[in-house]
Amino acid sequence: MLKLKNVQAFYGNIQALKNISMDVKEGEIITLIGANGAGKSTTLMTICGIVPIRSGEILFEGQTINKMPPNKIVALGINQVPEGRHIFPYLTVMENLDMGTFLRNDKDGIKQDLDYIFTLFPRLAERRNQAGGTLSGGEQQMLAISRAIMTRPRLLLLDEPSLGLAPIITHQIFDIIKKINKDNKTTIFLVEQNANLALNVADRGYVMENGVITMTDTGKNLLANEDVKKAYLGI
Ligand code: ATP
Repeated sequence: MLKLKNVQAFYGNIQALKNISMDVKEGEIITLIGANGAGKSTTLMTICGIVPIRSGEILFEGQTINKMPPNKIVALGINQVPEGRHIFPYLTVMENLDMGTFLRNDKDGIKQDLDYIFTLFPRLAERRNQAGGTLSGGEQQMLAISRAIMTRPRLLLLDEPSLGLAPIITHQIFDIIKKINKDNKTTIFLVEQNANLALNVADRGYVMENGVITMTDTGKNLLANEDVKKAYLGI
């Protein structure tokens, strides 16, 4: 579904991605793990067209997307929930969700997706008229994921959904991620610092160090890998 071929990206003189190649198959949950500053968020931002790539290629369903503007990439079915959520704090929950329907005009589909979201997150249904900025951190994460679902993505990119959340909320969010993957056959590309949780839900994982992919395997094998255990699982 998605292919990154020898992708290089820079911020000025700093090279953030050094020749990375990755592969995401339709229906999978894949995760990218790595330490702070490894280049994980940059990888997602290059896929979305926010950070330009200097060389290499990104293909979505066989089509080169690395020269497309972000709005075209969203229209193809790729959506990102960025690190820090970035909901609209002064808009209500409903208005935030409406923002996800910007490119849609299928009223029945929108209604159906809204019902689905309110079943996934009854808390958001209760608070539909509350300003986004007054929600708790966990609720804001739920809203950010829901707003992305409203775009009907086929590939959902999630950047650190566990950031700043209590363990119990994190587990709820990860259960929902698995459910979204199953219910709608949404392919998921998950960037996480919580390697243990991420590798447990992922079919496959990639490990990134200093802008380089150093390892890839099934989530299960990476969890059992001695180097991964030492560096990322604290075992
Ligand atoms: P974290 O887990 O801490 O969010 P990350 O793996 O997502 O880290 P990136 O945010 O992709 O890492 O950063 C990769 C490298 O690029 C880091 O060295 C970072 O300092 C640098 N970088 C990121 N954004 C910028 C920017 N806007 N300008 C300059 N350098 C940047």
